Amino acid sequence: MNFDWDPEQITFRDSLIAFAQAELNEGLLERERDGLFSRQNWQKCADFGILALSVPAQFSGHEDTDFLTAMLAMEGLGRGCRDNGLTFALNAQMWTVQLPIVQFGTHTQKERYLPSLCSGASIGAHAITEPETGSDVFSMSTSATRVKDGYLLNGTKHYVSLSPVADIALVFATVDASLGKWGISSFLVDCHGDGIRRDTVQDKMGLRTVPMGRIDFEDCFVSEQDRLGPEGAGVSLSTSFLEWERCCILASQLGAMERQLDECVAYARQRRQFGQAIGKFQAVSHRIVEMKLRLETSRLLLYKVAWLKQQGRNAMTEAALLKLHLSESFAASSMDAIRIHGGHGYLTETGLERDLRDAVGGTIYAGTSDIQRNIVAGMLGL
Ligand SMILES: Cc1cc2nc3c(=O)[nH]c(=O)nc-3n(C[C@H](O)[C@H](O)[C@H](O)COP(=O)(O)OP(=O)(O)OC[C@H]3O[C@@H](n4cnc5c(N)ncnc54)[C@H](O)[C@@H]3O)c2cc1C
Repeated sequence: MNFDWDPEQITFRDSLIAFAQAELNEGLLERERDGLFSRQNWQKCADFGILALSVPAQFSGHEDTDFLTAMLAMEGLGRGCRDNGLTFALNAQMWTVQLPIVQFGTHTQKERYLPSLCSGASIGAHAITEPETGSDVFSMSTSATRVKDGYLLNGTKHYVSLSPVADIALVFATVDASLGKWGISSFLVDCHGDGIRRDTVQDKMGLRTVPMGRIDFEDCFVSEQDRLGPEGAGVSLSTSFLEWERCCILASQLGAMERQLDECVAYARQRRQFGQAIGKFQAVSHRIVEMKLRLETSRLLLYKVAWLKQQGRNAMTEAALLKLHLSESFAASSMDAIRIHGGHGYLTETGLERDLRDAVGGTIYAGTSDIQRNIVAGMLGL
C-alpha cells in the first residue's frame, strides 16, 4: 500500500474542508435542538458534487474519482462539517442507495435515478430494518407478491434514515417466504406512490438533523422494471451493499475525530489550573494520546479497506473491523473530549456533547458492534 496522496487529492480534500466550514455549520445549534433537516445544506452539498462521488461520470457522477479519493474527500467533509447528521445522511444515500444502483441497476434504472440523486433533486432511503427483525435482518416479513407486470408490497420498515423526506426507497421484501432468506428481493420504490404511508420518528438521542421514520406498505405496486437485480438475489446484493456500507459510512466520522483532537489539544494548551496548562497533567495528555491512537488506527483501517475495495477485493473481515473500531473509537473519543473540557464540555454550545450523542448512533446502524464482532468471529472460523 502506498500512503502518499498526490497534491490534487489533498487539494480536493482541503476544498471540502473549506466548503463545509464556510457553508454547513451556521444555525446548527438550533437545527439540532429542533431536529430539523436542512434541505438547503443538502442542496449545497449536491451542488458541490459530493453526492456524485459514488457515481460514474456517465450517469452525472464525478469525473475520475477513484474510491480512495472519495474516502479522503468524505473524511474532509467530516473534518469541516460539525453537523454529523448531515454527513451521515449524505453517506447513507451515496453508499446504500446510489452505489447499489450503480453496481446492480439496469442501464434504464441508472439513467432514471442516478442523475436526480446526484443533483439533489431527489433523495433516496435504504429500507431493510423491520420492527421484528433488526440484527436478524434476513428474517424479514415484508412481502412482495407477484402480480401482473410486477409485485405488491405489504409490510413495515422502521428506523429508515431520510425516509420522511425521501423520493425513492430501496426496499427489501420476500417474494417466496418458503425459500427463507433466498426468497428476498430488492426494489426501487417511489415514496410518493399509492400504498405507502410514512411516519416520522419525532425525537431521538443524536443525529437529530437527519429525519428518520417508518414506512408502511399496503398493496404498494412496484413494476418488474423497478426490481433491483434478479428475483431472489436480495441477500447476495445486501451482503455486498453491507460490506460497502461498513467501509464508507463512517469516513466522515474520521474527519470529525480529527477535528475533536485538534480542539482538545488547543484547549489543553490554553486552559490553566494549579498554575499550569492542563495538558501538562499526564491524566489529560494521556487521554489525548488515546484519542490520537484511536484516530490513527481508525484511519489505517479505513484506508486499507478502501484500498482493498478499490482493487475489487473482498474485505468482509476488514470492513467489519473498521465499522466496529471506528464507531466505538468516535464514541470513546467524544467522551474523552468532554472530560478534557470539564464543565465547558458539558455545555450544548460547545458541540462536544452533540458529538457523543451522534457517535452512539454509529455503534448501532449498519449492524451493531456485537454483529460486527460476530462477523469477524465467523470469518475466523469460530
Ligand atoms: C441512527 C440510526 C440510523 C439507522 N438507519 C437505518 C436505515 O437507514 N435503514 C434501515 O433499514 N435501518 C436503519 N437503522 C436500523 C439499524 O440498522 C438497526 O437498529 C440495527 O441493525 C439493530 O437492530 P435493532 O435496533 O432491531 O436491535 P436488535 O437486533 O434487537 O438488537 C438489540 C441488542 O441485541 C444485540 N444482538 C442482537 N442479535 C445479536 C447476536 N446475534 N449476537 C450478539 N448480540 C446480538 C444487539 O447488538 C443489540 O445490542 C438505523 C438505526 C439507527 C440507530
